[in-house]
Amino acid sequence: MRPLIAGNWKMNGRLPAAMKEFDRLLREAGRAAAKAKDAALPEILVCPPAVLLAPFRDAIAAADLGGVVALGGQDCHAAEAGAHTGDIAAEMLRDAGATHVIVGHSERRADHGEKNATVAAKLAAAHRAGLVPILCVGETLSQRDAGHAPTAVARQVRAALGAGCTAANTVIAYEPVWAIGTGRTPTPEDVAAMHLAIRRTVEKAVGAPRMRILYGGSVKPDNAATLLAVAGVNGALVGGASLLAKDFWGIAKAS
Ligand code: 13P
Repeated sequence: MRPLIAGNWKMNGRLPAAMKEFDRLLREAGRAAAKAKDAALPEILVCPPAVLLAPFRDAIAAADLGGVVALGGQDCHAAEAGAHTGDIAAEMLRDAGATHVIVGHSERRADHGEKNATVAAKLAAAHRAGLVPILCVGETLSQRDAGHAPTAVARQVRAALGAGCTAANTVIAYEPVWAIGTGRTPTPEDVAAMHLAIRRTVEKAVGAPRMRILYGGSVKPDNAATLLAVAGVNGALVGGASLLAKDFWGIAKAS
């Protein structure tokens, strides 16, 4: 399975600096694509703030990179249209050039009170729009300390996945909340155990044992090779280290 290396820019990236950095990434990707056979490259996805999707799409087209770098949104509303001030429909993300959308990120769950039912509706909206949802799940530190990490994460997975979720149209990202932006990561053994627990839950819920499961939380160029080599890890969802092309590309090369 080709790894997926996804960058979540979160609320970072102002013009024109963001454009420059994205162009740097496209140049790196272009050089690598020219050297390697397509199959040797990981899939690269950048999820910038929604207002940057269209300019990034245009930059990809101008670089003529033929699908080497794809774009995703960071969130979507469950509805297709309507009176939801400030929200963005999955269809609008698609119009702006996205092929993927992150749903259920722990920062959305914490900052906007998103519950599992909302996340499930957003995941279904992504499918309705023809986007691949990247469902984020992960335990808090107190859940981990209490030994409840596998059950907490399994609950999030079961609540969000529904009929029609397949390995081709859905991705999961395991992101322990305590590892996000902290520089702390679980041990490779813990990552392997959590990915296995998630995979079993996915298999039971929708019968898709080959669904991609990414790891996210303080992935950096210097720990990427170790984390990406863990059994059952099919790529990474990268926050802070995706903001600089050289760091993000360093992670992509480690896959
Ligand atoms: P960091 O890589 O900054 O820890 O963020 C991870 C994350 O939340 C990606 O969605």
